Amino acid sequence: MNLKEKVAYLVGLAEGLNLEESKEAKLLNNIIDVLQDFAEAVQELDELYNELEEYLGAIDTDLEDLETDYYETDEDETDFFEFQCPNCNETVYLDESLMDEEIFCPNCHNKIDFVDDEEL
Ligand SMILES: [Zn+2]
Repeated sequence: MNLKEKVAYLVGLAEGLNLEESKEAKLLNNIIDVLQDFAEAVQELDELYNELEEYLGAIDTDLEDLETDYYETDEDETDFFEFQCPNCNETVYLDESLMDEEIFCPNCHNKIDFVDDEEL
């Protein structure tokens, strides 16, 4: 039984007592009214809490996706390699995928020969 059902059960019990118009009956009915309000409020909070939990779960999933994307991008960056241009001695960074193509130094714009570079 949830809270609302329990309070409904109390209402039934109180009605079954066939209480006459006494101060005690009035008090009992008021207590039950308050309990009904409490049960209602708790249920609303519970629904709101579940919504928030669902929302947080969605944010958490999105965040994990972003983290995954971020670290994948970070790993991609390690494909860049660093070398010193034999012409101008400037340290430059290039994408490893460009290795098979003709490479020109971004600083002095001279063509870079990797075979010569490796021998240095
Ligand atoms: Zn250069």
